[in-house]
Amino acid sequence: MQTMMKAAVLHQIGGPLQIQQVPVPQPGPGEVLIRITACGVCHSDLHAMDGDWAAQPVLPLIPGHEITGQVVALGSGVQEPVVGSIVGVPWLYSACGTCEFCLGGMETICPKSESTGYTKPGGYAEYMVAPAAFVANIPDNVDLYELAPILCAGITTYRGLKRSRATLGQWVAVLGIGGLGHVAVQYAIAMGLRVVAVDVSEDKLELARSYGAECLINALDNPVETLREKIPGGVHAAVVTAVANAAFEQSVAMLRPGGTAVFIGLPGGSADTVRASISAISGWELSITGSNIGTRQDLNEAVAFAARGKVRAQVVKDNLDNINEIFERMRKGALVGRTVLAIG
Ligand SMILES: [Zn+2]
Ligand SMILES: [Zn+2]
Repeated sequence: MQTMMKAAVLHQIGGPLQIQQVPVPQPGPGEVLIRITACGVCHSDLHAMDGDWAAQPVLPLIPGHEITGQVVALGSGVQEPVVGSIVGVPWLYSACGTCEFCLGGMETICPKSESTGYTKPGGYAEYMVAPAAFVANIPDNVDLYELAPILCAGITTYRGLKRSRATLGQWVAVLGIGGLGHVAVQYAIAMGLRVVAVDVSEDKLELARSYGAECLINALDNPVETLREKIPGGVHAAVVTAVANAAFEQSVAMLRPGGTAVFIGLPGGSADTVRASISAISGWELSITGSNIGTRQDLNEAVAFAARGKVRAQVVKDNLDNINEIFERMRKGALVGRTVLAIG
């Protein structure tokens, strides 16, 4: 097996990434070595590179957390997966397994969790290691390039919809039909919800319609008033995947009494706070909740929808060598669907 590999490495906050040769990592106890097939390019990677969050990434960093690939070697003590297994690696690299949150089915907020492509090396490389207990088993005969974004955009929006508590036949607004939102619309439809799509782009709204969204609202045109005209009383739930701050405030104003807004998108920087009506939240018993990627169980469920063809990420394949240009386009909001690095 080769001893050196190509990787995109961040050496200082603010970037750019350097394409260079680094040693192939060796799997330690309980870990597997994965030869990477595909890695999605997520907006969170840009936040990581820009140092937008309070807890800074560990440098030098190989970003990337939407990974599919094949297990090629095992560390000591690993029974499953076996060599040759197709696996996925999500943002949740590991969690402690013993804290009150892990024991309570909320490993997403484990204070000792590690993050792929943030505190641990990620998927912008030919190989990576990951804990065997935290990789997702991927069924054979799925497209590993299309599946890669499900490891982040899929699991994140799927868990967000679960946390909205919207049930069959109820209305959910999806604000932002980008890399996350176009997947959210498909999960919502597959889960029996009725979808209102909200975005500034008519093209993205049309994409949402093609997936089954019944109501399309241009966010530039009084979206709250328009929604309340079209859906009297408002929506049961709103899931915000946009990165524009206004969308978060609008989502709460779109709710019907008892409704829930789920915050998923991350504006970052100075746009990190919202204003909301205390009297509306109190008087109408509204909920605002966050959703942070997902548990391993969420991941298995989210992958199962995709493997059955119920949800497909719209992917554009690109090359690891182009990673800095990809991020320039992302900064301009010029990416359509999900860019996936075709590595293997
Ligand atoms: Zn992500
Ligand atoms: Zn824990």
